[in-house]
Amino acid sequence: MRPRIAVVGGGPAGPSFARVLHRHGHPVTVLERDPARDARPAGGTLDLHEGLGQAALGKAGLSAQFQALSRPEGQAMRILDVDGTVLRDWRPRPGDRAHPEIDRGQLRDLLLGPLDVQWGRAVPEVVPESRDGVLVRFEDGRQETFDLVIGADGAWSRVRPAVSSVTPRYTGVTLVETSLDEVDAHHPELARLVGDGSVAVYGVNRALVAQRNSGGHVKVYAQFRVPLEGGTGPDRHRGPDRRTDPDPDPADTEAVRSRLLALFDGWADPVLDLLRHGTTFTHRPLHALPASHTWTHVRGVTLLGDAAHLMPPLGAGANLAMLEGAELAESLAAAPDPAQPDEIVRAFEERMWARAAKWANITMAGLERLVSPDPSDALALFDDVQPS
Ligand SMILES: Cc1cc2nc3c(=O)[nH]c(=O)nc-3n(C[C@H](O)[C@H](O)[C@H](O)COP(=O)(O)OP(=O)(O)OC[C@H]3O[C@@H](n4cnc5c(N)ncnc54)[C@H](O)[C@@H]3O)c2cc1C
Repeated sequence: MRPRIAVVGGGPAGPSFARVLHRHGHPVTVLERDPARDARPAGGTLDLHEGLGQAALGKAGLSAQFQALSRPEGQAMRILDVDGTVLRDWRPRPGDRAHPEIDRGQLRDLLLGPLDVQWGRAVPEVVPESRDGVLVRFEDGRQETFDLVIGADGAWSRVRPAVSSVTPRYTGVTLVETSLDEVDAHHPELARLVGDGSVAVYGVNRALVAQRNSGGHVKVYAQFRVPLEGGTGPDRHRGPDRRTDPDPDPADTEAVRSRLLALFDGWADPVLDLLRHGTTFTHRPLHALPASHTWTHVRGVTLLGDAAHLMPPLGAGANLAMLEGAELAESLAAAPDPAQPDEIVRAFEERMWARAAKWANITMAGLERLVSPDPSDALALFDDVQPS
C-alpha cells in the first residue's frame, strides 16, 4: 500500500519534492498557507547552481523549461566602492550556465505546474505518533492523518517543533528590501548601473546590492549590522542609535527612506538613487539555525529547506531546499517497500544534515565578510569564489 504523504509549504522545497513524486506517479498532498498562487508578490530573483537547484529541476524533468526561462546574463556582477568607482565588472562567458537567475514567481509556477495544491491551508501543528499516523491540524480546526509529513514551511516552521526545539537566532545583520519598476524606461542611468545582473557596494558594516529581475524590475537590498530588540522572532527591530535606526515604523515609506539615506550617508549619488527611487520597503532581520542543527529521528515527520537549516541568504538556501526535496522524493519513489518509508527518511536526513552544515558554515562566514568593518573583506570573498 502506498503511504499517505503530505508536504507543508509551497516555497522552493515543497513543490520540488511534490513534483518529483508526481513525476513517478505517486500521489502527494501539498498544503500551503497562502490563500492563492498569486496572493502575495513572489519575491526577487534566485540563482540556481548546476549541481544543486538545476539538478533538482533535472530530476523533475524541467531542465528545458528552466533553460528557456532563466537568465544566464543575470550572473553578471559589478562591485563598486562607496564613491562609485568600479572595482570589479564580471560578466559570464557565452554559454556559461553555472548559476543563471530565475524570478521566484516563474520558478514557483514551473514547479507547481500540474500539482494540485491546497491553498489557504495553514498548519499550526503536527502531532507525530498519533493512533493512525501523523496528525496534521489546520487553523480552521480540522485535522487529517498521514503516514509521512514533510515540513517545508520555511524559517518559522510550525512542523519543526515535532522534531526539534531549536529556533533560529538573529545573525546581527538586517536587510531592508525595496524595488524599482521598469528601470530601463524610467531610470535608464540606474538600469546601466545595475547592468544585466547585480551591482554591489560594500562599506563599513553596510552593503547595498541591486539585482535585475525579469521585465525591467530591480530589487534593492540594503544590509547593515544592527542589534535586534524584542526577541528572536520575525518581529520588528530597532537599533539603539536613533539617528541611524532605519525605521521606527516599517509602514511609513518616507520615514524608512530617510533613515536609510542617513545610514548610507556619503555614498555616491547614483548608488543612493537606488534608495531614493525605491517604492515600498520590507524589513528582513536575517536569522539562522545553528550549522550543527540535527534532531533525533521521529517516525513519520521530517524537514526540508529553511525549516531544517535556515542560513544567511548567500545563494544556497533555495538550491539546497530544491535538491533535498527532489532527492527525498526520488528515494521514496524507488523504495522496494513504499509502505515503509522510515528507513529512507532516516538515510535522507543524514545526507541532508552533512551537506547543509557545510553550506551553513560557508554562508555564515560569507555574511561576516560581506557586511564587515573592513569593506575589502567583501572584495576578497568575491575574488575567492568568482572565476576570473
Ligand atoms: C533576499 C533573499 C535572497 C535570496 N537569494 C537566494 C538565491 O539567490 N539563491 C538561493 O539558493 N537562496 C536564496 N535565498 C534563500 C531562499 O530564499 C530560501 O532558502 C528558500 O526560499 C527556502 O525555501 P523553502 O521552501 O525551504 O522555504 P520558503 O521559501 O520560506 O517557503 C515556505 C513556504 O511555506 C509556507 N508556509 C509557511 N508556514 C506555513 C504553515 N504553517 N502552513 C502552511 N504553509 C506554510 C509559506 O507561505 C511558503 O510558501 C534568498 C533569501 C533572501 C531572504
